[in-house]
Amino acid sequence: MFYLISKKMKNKLVAVIILLMNLGMINAQNNPLLEEFNTPHQTAPFKEIKNEHFIPAFQESIKQGETEIESIANNQAAPTFENTVVALDKAGKLLNRTAGIFFNLMSAETNDDLQKIAQEVSPMLTKFQNDITLNPVLFEKVKTVYAQKEKLGLNAEQQTLLENSYVNFIRQGANLTDEQKEKFREISTELSKLSLKFGENVLKETNNYQLHITDKSKLTGLPEGALEAAASKAKSENKEGWIFDLNMPSYLPFMKYADNRELRKEMFLAYGSKSFKGNEFDNQENVKKIAALRLELAQLLGYKIYADYALERSMATNPAGVYKLLDDLYEVSFNKANQEKAEVQDYAKRNGFNGEILPWDWTYYSEKLKVEKFDLNDEMLKPYFELGKVVDGVFGLATDLFGITFKPNNNIPVYNEEVVPYEVFDANGKFLSVLYTDFHPRSGKQGGAWMNDFKGQWKENGVDSRPHITIVMNFTRPTETKPALLTFDEVETFMHEFGHALHGMLANSTYSGLSGTNVYRDFVELPSQIMENWAVEKEFLDRFAVHYQTGEKIPAELVQKIVDAQNYLAGYLSIRQLSFAFLDMAWHTQEKPFKGSVKEFEENAWAKTRIFPVSDEVCMSTQFGHLFAGGYAAGYYSYKWAEVLDADAFSVFKEKGLFNKDVAKSFRENILEKGGTEHPMVLYKRFRGQEPMVDALLERSGLK
Ligand SMILES: [Zn+2]
Repeated sequence: MFYLISKKMKNKLVAVIILLMNLGMINAQNNPLLEEFNTPHQTAPFKEIKNEHFIPAFQESIKQGETEIESIANNQAAPTFENTVVALDKAGKLLNRTAGIFFNLMSAETNDDLQKIAQEVSPMLTKFQNDITLNPVLFEKVKTVYAQKEKLGLNAEQQTLLENSYVNFIRQGANLTDEQKEKFREISTELSKLSLKFGENVLKETNNYQLHITDKSKLTGLPEGALEAAASKAKSENKEGWIFDLNMPSYLPFMKYADNRELRKEMFLAYGSKSFKGNEFDNQENVKKIAALRLELAQLLGYKIYADYALERSMATNPAGVYKLLDDLYEVSFNKANQEKAEVQDYAKRNGFNGEILPWDWTYYSEKLKVEKFDLNDEMLKPYFELGKVVDGVFGLATDLFGITFKPNNNIPVYNEEVVPYEVFDANGKFLSVLYTDFHPRSGKQGGAWMNDFKGQWKENGVDSRPHITIVMNFTRPTETKPALLTFDEVETFMHEFGHALHGMLANSTYSGLSGTNVYRDFVELPSQIMENWAVEKEFLDRFAVHYQTGEKIPAELVQKIVDAQNYLAGYLSIRQLSFAFLDMAWHTQEKPFKGSVKEFEENAWAKTRIFPVSDEVCMSTQFGHLFAGGYAAGYYSYKWAEVLDADAFSVFKEKGLFNKDVAKSFRENILEKGGTEHPMVLYKRFRGQEPMVDALLERSGLK
């Protein structure tokens, strides 16, 4: 159920190994990545871009970036806010454009060639980044401006830009000795290489597994839709029978509905043992190396542990702030989770299963108990969540709240024909953003769901340069006989990523480095998670949830069931998130490099959250991309942190009206448009009138 934790991948610099590949130099004139994009809104001309364009484009983009940086460093005039700090924010536009295209494709449409290119360009990017922040002349200039900060008459956004710039230099090693700087370069290059490798291994392991069944009697319990999808999959590979895999739309229904316990166990172990089998895609050593290198990097910079370094720039401020949140939620979640487990165990017993409920039984029996308790299951809801209708509903919510509208524009090029490009307009008709939607799993796509941008937002010379945003999901595909019918979880995931997209699309900053989702990690999930609240509101569902065949509106009693069932397994889901956060904190609060068994470390780290016996074959750390391939190191708690914020913020809509335009306007102006231009607590209080409290969350999830 990792999919529940939707991610917002914002880390552009992942990767490496210096493998010089002979891709042949391409003349800049023939490289679309280096030319002006003659497309609507200068969107990426995907059809013209070939893999062989990337290396030369990166080389040229980095060269241009270096020239821009040199001219800032070599400027003979006294350093000023404009000629130093603003100039740095503006530098590297071409490189950002190239990297934006490349790394989005790496996540959504990758292949072996792109992965090889990533291995080559990632050290180039790390070097470029280090060349800036470890440049003593540049740092001296930033320091000079920073020393005058009180006298410069800067507005709030400018003050933040200056502060960030100065702190960023220091956090990236600007204060180190020359020898230490070399060490810093070494560690950061190695880290980017290992993160890339980690993610590739997990993707390979996901794609390498299939459960191929030719005897239908083994598939009792599975709904028709799941069988049909598995049959399509087999057919597409010219095989008989049914193929299930580890992508969520295939894996999850199997775990929920397949009566065959042995096969459920096989699927569970296949999923849980990714990159933990001792084969060439194993990540155990990578996990230890990454954690050790992060520790070394933090200590080089003068911190005791990595979490101190990571959390310095967060709302939680430090590990104690994180543990306070986790501990506040722990007991109530753990107790509730155990009650829920006893209930599911009891249900299984009443229905003829006398053994202990194990992880591969949990989803199966808890789903059946849900049907008994609430008379509700995925299959009952799916006919009402036809993807096209859900898109209308979600976009319509944004129209209602913020007045923005969405118009498909097929003249905007796409990287895969399944992607739909939109132009988004503000209430006054002004163009706001490009939005790409990409909904279904493909073998070149990473698992999970995320939002990202191809291009950010900024203002320059009086021109507001608008963003290009993308949301990528792994939702149930249409089959030969049915359109794409989403599960309720998928609807929520869509709303989540769409919330991130709003943060990006409505961005209204001057400086690109502070725009949109460029905020603290534990603030970034507020705009996304708050959107999920609407999904359990009748007033909202009534607008778009109609039966895909009959056109009948979703029956009121079914909506009531969704509302009633929304806190089903709240304790389990909460303790699960807490367990991941404890695991994350354990890896990143080490004072010495860990040399023992990854599995043992993991079991110790989350022992107090455990509600099932240990399975020796599975490991979370070796496939935990958020921590080891993404940007959530010492940051996984952010999801829980943001739940406190989103429940607290949504309570204002609950009180004043779900579609209240004044509240929406305030949320837009104080949060969504502001990006990282001011401290998140300042922004939040401006919207809410006070600091967030944990009460709304406990109440919402029935844990109070
Ligand atoms: Zn998110």
